[in-house]
Amino acid sequence: MSNDQLQTIVACFGKPVAGNPTQYMMERAFEHHALDWRYLTLEVDAADLEDAIRGMRAMGFRGANLTKPHKVSVIPLLDELTETARLMGAVNCIDRQGDKLLGDNADGKGFLMSLQELLDPQGIHAVVLGAGGAARAIAVELAQAGAEQITVVNRTPQRGEELVQLLNEKTPAQARFQPWENHFVLEQPCQVLVNATSIGLFDPEARVPVDPHSLELAQVVADVVFNPVETRFLQEAAAAGARTLNGLGMLVNQAAICFQRWTGQEPEVSVMRDALEEFFGL
Ligand code: NDP
Repeated sequence: MSNDQLQTIVACFGKPVAGNPTQYMMERAFEHHALDWRYLTLEVDAADLEDAIRGMRAMGFRGANLTKPHKVSVIPLLDELTETARLMGAVNCIDRQGDKLLGDNADGKGFLMSLQELLDPQGIHAVVLGAGGAARAIAVELAQAGAEQITVVNRTPQRGEELVQLLNEKTPAQARFQPWENHFVLEQPCQVLVNATSIGLFDPEARVPVDPHSLELAQVVADVVFNPVETRFLQEAAAAGARTLNGLGMLVNQAAICFQRWTGQEPEVSVMRDALEEFFGL
């Protein structure tokens, strides 16, 4: 088959968990936009990532998503990074530009876009539970969008303190670290409280250890976990009177950003959202 007969391929490198909702959304969007493209989910071990990226270059893949455990280790294998990806130190989207591979991170923007449907992040106090990849992406985007105070709460202090240092040194926000011991207690009202840990993923019964009264002090309570969609944390927050934001919006929005990068077209986001809801049987 000659190169011009090859279909355009985008890959997701990582460890696929229980199917890949992003593949489902992307394939549906390609079809809707009459693009003869394919989105493949390829399980790649950490030790094989370098070969996979070389293969992507050799086979002319148009782009890729990265999931765990590759978001950080892919960085030295790329040619360029966006400012956002550089700041976060993590990449979830590769965009081939000519011979070069550009790394971006759309996770935080995806969250921000869904939050902006509920409130303006300018001047807010946000509390971020977690300090891993998702938390870093969210905290950096919130800071860049004008959040004034960011409290980072994490089980492992070193990881939390590193994120706080990054926010204070590289963004205009004022950040502080609060260790997470037993149940987290929110000391003052905040506009946004987001669970950016993996607690609750595939476990509808899992409790995020937050004092139930603290949930009453948050205007919006969000969860990055999207499976299950309505986590126990969100159910408890809704019962406490908070507005809630589930992880689907973040997932759709980050996919829409990647789609736009690869194809140069604005995707019909409602088509992607419908596909995702279908995937989760909603
Ligand atoms: P990481 O492994 O990088 O970070 C996990 C975080 O969760 C760390 O802060 C870790 O704390 C914390 N954590 C895990 N278990 C516990 C526990 N029992 N008690 C307290 N803290 C805990 O993962 P990611 O940041 O990449 O992913 C986190 C979640 O975000 C996943 O569920 C993922 O599916 C979701 N996600 C959702 C997206 C979306 O579009 N909706 C996009 C990207 C991710 P510690 O540092 O102490 O280990």
